[in-house]
Amino acid sequence: MLNLILFGPPGSGKGTQSAKLIQRYDLQHISTGDLLREETANGTPLGMEAKKFMDQGQLVPDAVVIGMIGSRLDAQTGSSGFIFDGFPRTGAQAAALDDLLRQKNTEIDLLLSLEVPEAELKRRLLHRGELSGRSDDNEAIIDKRIVEYKAKTEPVAAYYAQQQKLVRVKGDGDIEATFKLLEQEIDQLIKPAL
Ligand code: AMP
Repeated sequence: MLNLILFGPPGSGKGTQSAKLIQRYDLQHISTGDLLREETANGTPLGMEAKKFMDQGQLVPDAVVIGMIGSRLDAQTGSSGFIFDGFPRTGAQAAALDDLLRQKNTEIDLLLSLEVPEAELKRRLLHRGELSGRSDDNEAIIDKRIVEYKAKTEPVAAYYAQQQKLVRVKGDGDIEATFKLLEQEIDQLIKPAL
């Protein structure tokens, strides 16, 4: 199995690059943001609880997200691996993911961190807000999401650095240029197995 985390601040291109990577490497895409938006759209109790935080640019509580991921992983059988997008976003989530994967006799192979300057992040998110109508893509909420990222999520990179699994990738180029850089890192990792 090949298990990757696509990491980075809001607007760094995790969703766009995940969509390309799952095709290239035949992986399952698990985006907690997408799963939460699905729950919200379906009006489930979990979705209603999550929406209060999402609309404020805050992280949804760990217990909610970890429970959701647990059932999602249990539902997957025979997968060649996963790309986790937007998860883990806290130390507690990272520890929980390790446990869940260990139960499946597998582990995270690599965390790919997309590095994009803050001004470019804001530009992209405002543009996405105009196109998609995502309620959390307005200026005040974007600022809050970036603050949450720096306080709670950025430290997660160190957790994986300790395990020699962190790779930083320049993410401010165009979509294809960033994809090539990600591909290089992943191919280097899986080459011995080819
Ligand atoms: P995203 O689509 O990944 O940008 O996520 C949108 C929003 O969903 C975030 O701003 C959070 O409110 C919530 N969210 C998504 N993933 C997580 C997570 N792993 N932990 C906590 N909140 C999350």
